[in-house]
Amino acid sequence: MIVLPQDHRTAIAAHAVEAHPEECCGLMLGTFDDGGDRVVRELLPISNARESEARHNRFLIGPMEMLKGEREARARGLDVVGIYHSHPDVPAVPSQFDLDHAWPVYSYVIVTSHADSTGDLRSWQLREDRSGFDEEQVGTPDGGPPGRT
Ligand SMILES: [Zn+2]
Repeated sequence: MIVLPQDHRTAIAAHAVEAHPEECCGLMLGTFDDGGDRVVRELLPISNARESEARHNRFLIGPMEMLKGEREARARGLDVVGIYHSHPDVPAVPSQFDLDHAWPVYSYVIVTSHADSTGDLRSWQLREDRSGFDEEQVGTPDGGPPGRT
């Protein structure tokens, strides 16, 4: 499960709408709790690193940005626990591109974006054999009912 506070969901949604019709992406900083859940504490929005006409259906976080994110996280006593990005006008389900560029360990939060609103927000984890993603629950910090927004 990934624990994602409501204010962070709102921030991800705002970033996704702002970037529409292109994808937005960012890092999620937080902690791994004893049960293996990821708890998101802070977001680190990242500009889309891909400079091409394919920006509307590709997201990429470059190695330098990832390194910077790891440093930021450590400076705050946190870890990078996941990556979020938007899927403009298509379901919040990982694409083949997402699969090809995913790392294990991280949670992949995907939100469907539209011009002035967002749809489903779902979270995924890469299988160890890289054959695909498994969906994980998105919960709230107060233990309230997990669900999608
Ligand atoms: Zn994607």
